[in-house]
Amino acid sequence: MRKIIYRNLCLLISAAVVFTTVLIFWVYYVQFSRNIEYDIKTEAEVITNYLDTEDTGQNDIDILKKMCAAGTSLRITLISGSGEVLYDSTANAAEMENHLERPEIDDAIRNGFGESVRSSETMGTKVYYYALRMHSGSILRVAKAADSIFKTVISVIPFLIGIVAAVLVVLFFVVNSLTRRIMRPVNDIDLEHLSEAQVYDELKPFLKRIDDNNKEKEMAEKIRREFSANVSHELKTPLTSISGYAQMINNGMARDEDIRSFGEKIEREAERLILLINDIIRLSNLDETDGIDEPEPIDLYEAAQSVLLSINDSAKKRGIRMFLGGQSVNISGNRTLIGELIYNLVDNAVKYNKDGGKITVTTGETAEGAVLAVSDTGIGIPEEEQERIFERFYRVDKSHSQTVGGTGLGLSIVKHIVLCHNAAIKVKSKPGKGTEITVVFKPYKKGD
Ligand code: ADP
Repeated sequence: MRKIIYRNLCLLISAAVVFTTVLIFWVYYVQFSRNIEYDIKTEAEVITNYLDTEDTGQNDIDILKKMCAAGTSLRITLISGSGEVLYDSTANAAEMENHLERPEIDDAIRNGFGESVRSSETMGTKVYYYALRMHSGSILRVAKAADSIFKTVISVIPFLIGIVAAVLVVLFFVVNSLTRRIMRPVNDIDLEHLSEAQVYDELKPFLKRIDDNNKEKEMAEKIRREFSANVSHELKTPLTSISGYAQMINNGMARDEDIRSFGEKIEREAERLILLINDIIRLSNLDETDGIDEPEPIDLYEAAQSVLLSINDSAKKRGIRMFLGGQSVNISGNRTLIGELIYNLVDNAVKYNKDGGKITVTTGETAEGAVLAVSDTGIGIPEEEQERIFERFYRVDKSHSQTVGGTGLGLSIVKHIVLCHNAAIKVKSKPGKGTEITVVFKPYKKGD
């Protein structure tokens, strides 16, 4: 970045120096030409004062000869009204051709005066002419040569190169220290404390994005570490009891009548382990996805119906009645994941219900989008815990969750599926009365 600023500044200033030099030359040259034109005009008027303007003759030629003998950078020519050259200060008048055709002479005959500029390629000069008609009809012409702009530029090129080189050397140091100064606040940024960095206002949104990104990464890393610690802990508990019971049987310490119940305990703990490992695998698979690759249309009503059918037996065992209400509503998503989401919510509604309780699943369309609501008449969730139930391994009552076969991961899976489907989840619950969990599906857009 420093190099880019440095290079661009150098380019910009060099271009400005060159452009300004050319412009100054041009203005100088235009002014110079004007001065010459003004000079020869004044000279012509002054000279005519010395001449007999009424009747031009030999006397006037003699006056002009005298004037020119004193030395002048001007070329003076006297021309008769018929174009014949009577006198010329630099050439032999007798050998000169008729001058009627010259534009300045032609103009002077017609309008009283005429001017013209002609360049002499070979000499690299320009000649300015001014012609004045006198009363006698004769014409006095004054001419002056000046270097062309090209020749003028060539003559000053060595000086120019010297000046530009000097300017560029100074520039090198100025631009160098300027870019250092511009970059200093950026170089001084403390990456550990981005939010406190004193930088240009234009850079602040960019730094904020990096800061947010870093915080997000730190948070994800923290969650990952906590998850690994929790997983080890959760796996260890059932494995410890399996190992304990197995050892007792193996050592012959278990009485014959206990062996059967130890076997049942081992089986239950092993089943818990399998449930747990399945949920962990589900969750880590979901962690890898952040959207649905090929969304398909799913009728929420039908999906809920098949979940209720599969859970019906376990609900019946506890005398829990299940109802499905509302209407068919289509969403776009992954059928397996939506099935899993509804299953987890209804399964919880059974697990945390009272015997003989009731579960109502409702689907339908609202202004916000398609809605699925699962409500139960179970034990409810205290207000202060409602936010946390979606955290991994968070359980309001750990031993109760374990007895009903919970892993503490069901709602984390639900939350993940909700996010994948651009949906939102809300909890309404009263301890002792029941819980209602609502999922609102906004129109699905991949990458949201
Ligand atoms: P678990 O496998 O323990 O059910 P979840 O992640 O599904 O884990 O739920 C987390 C916790 O939220 C549960 O342990 C329970 O305390 C509480 N919970 C979830 N659903 C309900 C519900 N319908 N009624 C009461 N408590 C619930």
